[in-house]
Amino acid sequence: MLNVEHIGIAVKNFSEANGLYYRLLGVEPYKTEYVESEGVNTSFFKVGGTKIELLEGTTEDSAITKFVEKRGEGIHHIAFEVEDIYAEMERLKKEGFALLNEAPKKGADNKLVCFVHPKSATGVLVELTQEIR
Ligand code: ZN
Repeated sequence: MLNVEHIGIAVKNFSEANGLYYRLLGVEPYKTEYVESEGVNTSFFKVGGTKIELLEGTTEDSAITKFVEKRGEGIHHIAFEVEDIYAEMERLKKEGFALLNEAPKKGADNKLVCFVHPKSATGVLVELTQEIR
């Protein structure tokens, strides 16, 4: 795996959280994107060599809506950039990690993504992310 590509933070109110992170980080989000397949609004802030991704659930059954209801706002996942997501998924399967999806999905920010189940990763939802080239 390469660098920490971004840290995903689940929020309750998208516009309030964007304002708060603008004041906290001193930069505007460089991108906001609605991901219909996941039922989430996302925004991305560049911070040094990595990014902060804010996620707001837009539907009742969105994973982010459920997360916020259950655990409140906070860190939702850590995303690691990978060179070859297919090879990395195979490697992790062999290592005994439970993957949440069988094949990479199209995520926000022009990426292919796959998630590792928190139960197999010390309670942390791990995202693998590869730039679509
Ligand atoms: Zn993410």
